[in-house]
Amino acid sequence: DILSNQIAAGEVVQRPASVVKELVENSIDARATRVTVEMDKGGKSLIRVSDDGTGLSRDQALLAIERYATSKIHTKEDLFAIASFGFRGEALPSMASVSKFCLVTRPQDADTATKVEMAGGKLLQVSDTGAPAGTLVEVRHLFFNTPARRKFLKTDTTEGAHITDTLSGLALGNPSVGFRLFSKNRLVKHFPPDQDLVHRAMLVLGQDAADHLYEMDYSAGDVRVTGVCANPAVSRATAGRIYLFVNQRLVRDKGVVAALFRGYAGRIMKGRYPMAVVCCELPCDQVDVNVHPSKREIKFLDARPVYQAVTAAVNTALLAAQQ
Ligand code: ADP
Ligand code: MG
Repeated sequence: DILSNQIAAGEVVQRPASVVKELVENSIDARATRVTVEMDKGGKSLIRVSDDGTGLSRDQALLAIERYATSKIHTKEDLFAIASFGFRGEALPSMASVSKFCLVTRPQDADTATKVEMAGGKLLQVSDTGAPAGTLVEVRHLFFNTPARRKFLKTDTTEGAHITDTLSGLALGNPSVGFRLFSKNRLVKHFPPDQDLVHRAMLVLGQDAADHLYEMDYSAGDVRVTGVCANPAVSRATAGRIYLFVNQRLVRDKGVVAALFRGYAGRIMKGRYPMAVVCCELPCDQVDVNVHPSKREIKFLDARPVYQAVTAAVNTALLAAQQ
């Protein structure tokens, strides 16, 4: 029902950037090779995400907007497992309950697309339409029916910057997928498809870092650290350009940032931050992902070997670059 969808929306959808994250992750799940994100007023008045992925039939589309319908929860054990996978099957119904929502989707082998229109969680219309294969989701006037929540949104510029950050993180995690971000018809980010991590990182970290990136690849025991780190000379005044992936998931961890600094071993000026993309791979049972899907904190069962590997990966890459 609408109320429980709105309550769930408070968990899943906090701001325009969380809508973008959920939609783009869906596109990636649908094996899209190109994803376009459009926003207006920092996503407050419009978010539109379109992809060339598998698309949905009419039946599947209707299931997708029904809360829990797509959830993989069937038993009590599944309910317990939800803790590690987040609120599955809730994203679309949640955002549809707090916006003017439109889904247009066509499977690759179908002739017509299905269009589902909703407002404030109410289904307005389902119709056939012409559209390219793939999926387009439009979220307009986010929180129009929950003014208390709308009040918490920041300026268009700030919300737009969150969207850009979110997309940059997703783009780093999926370098083979092409992404474009438009703000009111103006192209603000372009990540071409079929890139490798180094080239994607050059685009995300920016021109000043691009010529000074060193590749990392270091393994010890169960832990492998790959990615890129930038020459200390191009360090920044803020930590905003440190991206950490643990088992492909973009997360935050102060300990890894500290380990990164140790890898730079005094080469970074005081009060400045390195730029880096750090990808840690370790057995899944060694990581505890926070129960909340929108939070990015994690817990390592045993953090020390991970931190040591990060430090060693950076140090090794920087030493190799000096030779
Ligand atoms: P979840 O991703 O957790 O399953 P969502 O509410 O995000 O829940 O999406 C519901 C379902 O709708 C997905 O499981 C998927 O089957 C379908 N879906 C959503 N977005 C897309 C998309 N861009 N392309 C194809 N299918 C999609
Ligand atoms: Mg989803």
